[in-house]
Amino acid sequence: MSALPKVELHLHLEGAAPPSFIAGLAKEKNLDISGIFDARGQYRFTDFSHFLKVYEAATSALQTPEDYARLTRTVLEESAQSGVVYSETFLSPDFCGGREVGAWREYLHAMREAADQAERQMGITLRGIVTCIRHFGPEKARETALCAAETAGDWIVGFGIAGDERIGAPKDFRWAFDCAREAGLRLTAHAGEWGGPDSVRAAVRDLGVERIGHGVRAIEDLALVDELAEKGIVLEVCPGSNVALGLYRSFRDHPIHELDRRGVKVTVSTDDPPFFHTTMAREYEELHRALDWDEGQFRRIARQSLDAAFCDADTRARIGKLLEV
Ligand SMILES: [Zn+2]
Repeated sequence: MSALPKVELHLHLEGAAPPSFIAGLAKEKNLDISGIFDARGQYRFTDFSHFLKVYEAATSALQTPEDYARLTRTVLEESAQSGVVYSETFLSPDFCGGREVGAWREYLHAMREAADQAERQMGITLRGIVTCIRHFGPEKARETALCAAETAGDWIVGFGIAGDERIGAPKDFRWAFDCAREAGLRLTAHAGEWGGPDSVRAAVRDLGVERIGHGVRAIEDLALVDELAEKGIVLEVCPGSNVALGLYRSFRDHPIHELDRRGVKVTVSTDDPPFFHTTMAREYEELHRALDWDEGQFRRIARQSLDAAFCDADTRARIGKLLEV
């Protein structure tokens, strides 16, 4: 499965940091975050709230643009090994310079240089989606949106919201999303993971997003499923993440197949792969094993993902050729 060319649309850069990479950085900086690792050196957490805490503790080891350049390189190496040829990755000005535009530009420059080098050497293309964090509140989201608007272009191509979707409502973030939209950015929002179908409806209605991060709980309301199919709203589905966090018991119980069958545009991503002990190759293997998805299905999903990517037309055409291999 690792040989099939893949397109990933939902990956948090910090969440893709291998635990050994974070442990190494922490050691360099004399930072004691050993409590976030288990005896085998993997990330250790009990539930979603604890996951968010461990995630933020791990991120505390990433302190400079150089750290983010190294992280970008490491993450792209992992993705390329799984056969990913195009990756859209969530980037957080909250962690990169505390939402200050000048500092954010420095972090962005470092990440982009690392990504350009990885593209030349490994043939994997990265584009960024600036992401605000819901549980940090709407005020900070405004500052994040301004960072996004200032750096929108052919590399920063989208704006989104992640974090704890049980706190606040999409409409609280309308200003941030309007600001990003006016800067020409395409929009996505996490919903329908910890919130039910209404959270998906609210994200589409109040933020005007064209993609939903997760969105899988739309399956609990078939009228909404029809609406998503009709409007062509794309779901960034991360089955391994959902199973690891206990949303579904197994890949077999996951609604991705049913959503696809009902005409919703589904895609496949890893979310925060080392936290959930997954990779893109593993997602494909599990989907093949549990749902009998075959090469034809995977190729259709990859094409559907590329069509939903926020990159420009030239990039889409270039990646499209790689999918035909
Ligand atoms: Zn996510």
